[in-house]
Amino acid sequence: MSPRMRIGEGWDIHALVPGRPLVLGGVRIEHSKGLLGHSDADALAHAITDALLGAAALGDIGGMFPDTDAAHAGADSLHLLALAAERVRNAGWQLCNIDATVVAQEPRLAAHMPEMARRLAVAMGVEPGQVNVKAKTAERLGPVGQGQAIEARAVALISQP
Ligand code: MG
Repeated sequence: MSPRMRIGEGWDIHALVPGRPLVLGGVRIEHSKGLLGHSDADALAHAITDALLGAAALGDIGGMFPDTDAAHAGADSLHLLALAAERVRNAGWQLCNIDATVVAQEPRLAAHMPEMARRLAVAMGVEPGQVNVKAKTAERLGPVGQGQAIEARAVALISQP
């Protein structure tokens, strides 16, 4: 018997460096540093993409969008998320909900959470109430807590329509 609901998890981390824009959940955030990566390095969008693909047993973001492919250089990660959501739907699933956490020592992200959730929902073609984004600091512990990186994790629930 094939299960009617499935869960997936995703995690991502990118280094926080000067001279890069900071984009999280598709929102450009004013800050002295940004995330380093081949695409726009939106760690939150990447974690959610992996959670969705994982739930549907469709591999991972690196397999779907190889970073050796020049077409993805500087890519808008919300676009990649939209493509992944479409692939999950095409495999016969509907998206139930996403819950995600961004871990960043700085900048303060709380004010941006609703807009991130809204943009992520639009990208995935779901209602805003199906997406929840939380923000935490790392209590100054480890590379994230020392401001060297920003981390994101997500879970996704999908079901058969
Ligand atoms: Mg990434």
